[in-house]
Amino acid sequence: METAILVENGIRRIITLDQYANLISGKEKKSWPELCCIVCDKSVHQKGLLVASEDFTPRFSHAKKEPSEEFCPLGSESKRFYALDRNEKSLSLVEAHLRRERFMEPATFLGSYLICRHLRGGQGQLTLKEFTRMVEVADSIGMWRHTWLPEWSIPLMLMLMANHETRNGQHQFYYRIKRINRTQQASWDPANVHLIACWLKGGTQITGGKKKSSFPLIIPLSESYVNGITKLTERDATTWTQEERFARSIERYRVGLLNNQQLQDE
Ligand SMILES: [Zn+2]
Repeated sequence: METAILVENGIRRIITLDQYANLISGKEKKSWPELCCIVCDKSVHQKGLLVASEDFTPRFSHAKKEPSEEFCPLGSESKRFYALDRNEKSLSLVEAHLRRERFMEPATFLGSYLICRHLRGGQGQLTLKEFTRMVEVADSIGMWRHTWLPEWSIPLMLMLMANHETRNGQHQFYYRIKRINRTQQASWDPANVHLIACWLKGGTQITGGKKKSSFPLIIPLSESYVNGITKLTERDATTWTQEERFARSIERYRVGLLNNQQLQDE
């Protein structure tokens, strides 16, 4: 992961590797500020920041073997992003930053929230805090630098960034990227990948027969699929999204994201 949480005077600030390197340089290890994971709050540490090596990309990391499997999307054991490796990270930091800025425009941000909420099962699903965490995880895995990331695909890709509660609260599910056909071709082909839902219980993957679900079991990386959802959400959301309480709340989370401050529930 490329970001972590630093708690200072009760404020949860998201810190990047560079910022942390500045904080700890010249200090004794025991006085380094403690860090925790953006999603699961378990402690994380830096790896490779202070040793220059061409073969190792510095990162923040959970303790080894912790958390298990898919307990946390940022866990080192998570396999959900594997197929995404083929989608290279070719964008410069500046370009990636501009891409994120466009996403953070109020109308785009709201539209993306509504798409993700719809995918989660609609009404009563996906709080703004949960949605905000998904964006923070996207930041932490460096999603914005991927070569292939058209604007319409962003809400779909964000669905990878969390473990979601099922409606009855008994299980969680998450999405992973899966290739549809195993081809020899090494390059990224969005037509040959989709997101598939996997079930979890307490962070451990469970398998079972086809279950009824209020969320899609397969999400295609397709623009027409997204356009279909946008039409549905526009019809459904015109009134409640304009209510003052909601408008204030989404703006508060949006600004929190822009300022790298992790907000707690109101
Ligand atoms: Zn974690």
